[in-house]
Amino acid sequence: MAGPVVGVLALQGDVVEHLRALEANGTRALEVKTERQLAAADALIIPGGESTTVIKLLERFGLAAPITARVAAGMPLWGTCMGMIVAAHDVAGLAQPTLDLIDITVRRNAFGRQIASAEVALDIPVLGPAPFPAIFIRAPWIERAGLGVEVLATHEGHGVFVRQGHVMGTSFHPELTGDNRVHAYFARLVAEAQTGLVVRAS
Ligand code: GLN
Repeated sequence: MAGPVVGVLALQGDVVEHLRALEANGTRALEVKTERQLAAADALIIPGGESTTVIKLLERFGLAAPITARVAAGMPLWGTCMGMIVAAHDVAGLAQPTLDLIDITVRRNAFGRQIASAEVALDIPVLGPAPFPAIFIRAPWIERAGLGVEVLATHEGHGVFVRQGHVMGTSFHPELTGDNRVHAYFARLVAEAQTGLVVRAS
């Protein structure tokens, strides 16, 4: 296989599911636990899990500063659920540290008990007309999106899929469905970052 290598941060969370979804699309995938593995990746996914735990582990493993530096230098990054919380500018109502990679404020566990865990047919125009089976698990929503942030999907009036240039976030878990369109979208974004071409809706 040729093409860019997408790393999946493997400190905690649903790592294997992302690796499988990438490989199912023909994208080269790599577990990232060390700075050396990060250096071998062209892009990074931060998966779902527990944001307070992962922020601590990122510091302990010495990965917070290198990830921030790579993203500032143009490395594409996608955070799913917990990963989006870690990438956010800040967390509403909490003094929780984040990496501040995308200009959004998120609210943790925002959808309440009734959709603490649910699959929703989500309209995502950039992925085409068929709704996306979006799985929400104690998901955050986007409470505020800065001017440079595109909101690519909303649910119950709140952003759940955002992109700011080469950084994107989803409240839901595309790696847990058989539908690989969000992974394919990210792979195109990665290709765009490498070639300078602009990603268009499919
Ligand atoms: N509720 C978790 C958190 O706030 C995120 C849940 C998830 O990633 N599925 O960190």
